[in-house]
Amino acid sequence: MGSVACESPENQVRCRLDSLRIIRLHSATRHGKPFVRIRNLKRCTCRSRPYLLRSLYRDGFLLFGRTEMNAVSRKAVVLVSGGLDSATILAIAAKDGFELNALSFDYGQRHRFELEAARRVCAAANVARHITVPLDLRAFGGSALTDDIDVPKDRSESEMSGGVPITYVPARNTIFLSVALGWAEVLGAMDLFIGVNAVDYSGYPDCRPEFIAAYQRLANLATKSGVEGTAAWKIHAPLVSLSKTEIIRQGIELGVDYSLTHSCYDPDPKGRSCGHCDSCQLRMKGFADAGLVDPASYVQ
Ligand SMILES: [Zn+2]
Repeated sequence: MGSVACESPENQVRCRLDSLRIIRLHSATRHGKPFVRIRNLKRCTCRSRPYLLRSLYRDGFLLFGRTEMNAVSRKAVVLVSGGLDSATILAIAAKDGFELNALSFDYGQRHRFELEAARRVCAAANVARHITVPLDLRAFGGSALTDDIDVPKDRSESEMSGGVPITYVPARNTIFLSVALGWAEVLGAMDLFIGVNAVDYSGYPDCRPEFIAAYQRLANLATKSGVEGTAAWKIHAPLVSLSKTEIIRQGIELGVDYSLTHSCYDPDPKGRSCGHCDSCQLRMKGFADAGLVDPASYVQ
C-alpha cells in the first residue's frame, strides 16, 4: 500500500492512510476511479483532507468488497548509537507500532563498545533490520570523540550546560539524519526517530527542537516523496524535552534493558565506563534520581 499522509501544523493531528482503516463502498467506481471511504476521518481534522482524498484517487487504491483493512505496520528508521537514549526510542517506536529499521554509524568514534551495544540493543528490540554505515568523521576530526582531544572529566552541571562542549561532533546529527533520510526513502519509511535531548545536553545545537522542526521541513523539500506530495516526513524526537530521569523511567516502563547500553565517552580497555565524563555523570544522576541502580559497569 502506498503511503499518503496529511499533516496539520495547527493541531498536530496527523493521519496516514496506511494507518487508517479503509473500506471500499459497493463494488463500483465513481467517476471511473476506485471509490473508497476512509473511516476514522474524525482523526483527520486538518485542512489537507481534500488533498488526501485526491491522492487516494490518483494512487488508485482498490479495496475489494466491504473488507476492512487492518492498520498496516509503518516502517520507521531509528538512529541507534547503543546509548541509553537510542535504546529508549527503539522501544517507543515499537510501542507506536512501527516496523523498526535501525541505523548505526561507524563514524570513527573513540571505541567500539558503543557499536557492540547498538548490536545488542537492536537484537533485544527484535528489529526488522539493522545496518551500520561506515562514515569516518575522523577524516576531519574537530571533536573529543573523533580527534586526539581529551574527553573532559568531572565537570560541574553548570560547566556542562554552558556553551557547546568539545564532545560536540561537528554537524553530526545533520549528517546522520541525511543518511537516515536516504535509507528511509529507499525503504518507503516516512518516519525517522532520533534520540536527541535538549534538557541535559542543552549545549548541542543539533539536539534542539528547532533543529528537528527545521530538518523535517528540509526532508519534505529534499526528497522525491516529499516533493511529489505522496507522503509527509516526520522526524520523531520523543525525548527532546525529557530529563535523563524521565527518559529512564519511560524506558523501564517499556521494558528496556539498560544493561545492554553503553554511554561512556571514554571507557577502559574492558569497556567499563569511566564514571567521570559528561555522559557518565548524566547517566548516573539519571538513574540515581529515578531511584534505580545503573546496570552499567564502572571502573572502580
Ligand atoms: Zn564516561
